Amino acid sequence: MYKRGHLGVAMLTLAPITFWLLTDGYPAFAVLVAGTVLYLAMLPDVDHRLPLVSHRGPTHSLLFAGVVGAVFAGAASLVEPVLSIAVPGGVSMVAFGFLLGFGSVVAHLLGDVITPMGVNFLWPYPRTWSLSLTPADSTLWNWGLFVLGVFAMAGAVALAVQGAAI
Ligand SMILES: [Zn+2]
Repeated sequence: MYKRGHLGVAMLTLAPITFWLLTDGYPAFAVLVAGTVLYLAMLPDVDHRLPLVSHRGPTHSLLFAGVVGAVFAGAASLVEPVLSIAVPGGVSMVAFGFLLGFGSVVAHLLGDVITPMGVNFLWPYPRTWSLSLTPADSTLWNWGLFVLGVFAMAGAVALAVQGAAI
């Protein structure tokens, strides 16, 4: 999947989460989560630029998602003693950090699993899963997912704001 399609899938994933965060009274977290997921939307494709790393190999796995989650959890554990804020879902800041990093990578993998090349979720175990819905370079799918994502996010924000106003 190309960048536009990945951003679309990321926004589709984010829409219900954004709605929940806004209606639960965490607007700052909603912005933080959306910003992080969209910023990291293309992170696994760093493998295009890394020597000796095959495309859709290690960086397209749940293991990599766990590593990114661990980095975020580590950062959160440094911040937690200094800055204690109420975290959505009542989880610790460390758990929240892990989920944010983990989820950002998984959102990318969801965009790639619909293409015939698929995703090796359990790398290094050699098995690829694919829904084979569309080739990665499909203009229709990349634009379609992007537009759907924008609508889903706009809808989530509009509904949450409307709900808050009633
Ligand atoms: Zn990818």
